[in-house]
Amino acid sequence: MKKNVTFKFVKTIPDSLDSGIVYITTYYNTAVHKCMCGCGNEVVTPLSPSDWELTYNGEQISLYPSIGNWSFECQSHYWIKNNKVIWAEKWSKRQIKARRRKQSRERSSKSCTKSKPVLFWNKLISYFTF
Ligand SMILES: [Zn+2]
Repeated sequence: MKKNVTFKFVKTIPDSLDSGIVYITTYYNTAVHKCMCGCGNEVVTPLSPSDWELTYNGEQISLYPSIGNWSFECQSHYWIKNNKVIWAEKWSKRQIKARRRKQSRERSSKSCTKSKPVLFWNKLISYFTF
């Protein structure tokens, strides 16, 4: 289980990711990293008002809200805050359902304002992750 992360701003996400690095592409408005538990699964976090928010202060990054990998076997749940991984408790089935509902609602109400790359990633992430 990782405790610290670094990050890379990239134009496109590389084919093979190093663990402990959050790859950020502003072209696709997306951040991608390998699950911090070490299971090797890739976690895609689209950056948009209805998905994740990336904060960058020149040295450190944070992602909001937390990252809940409930579709992976590890079901890990953590925050990335100021280049640190803060481990949170696992999700209950009810929490997962509630969050899924919330996200699909927000998606459908805001989808018309989104740019194409973000829509593409949203489709991808909802296909693979949710
Ligand atoms: Zn994992």
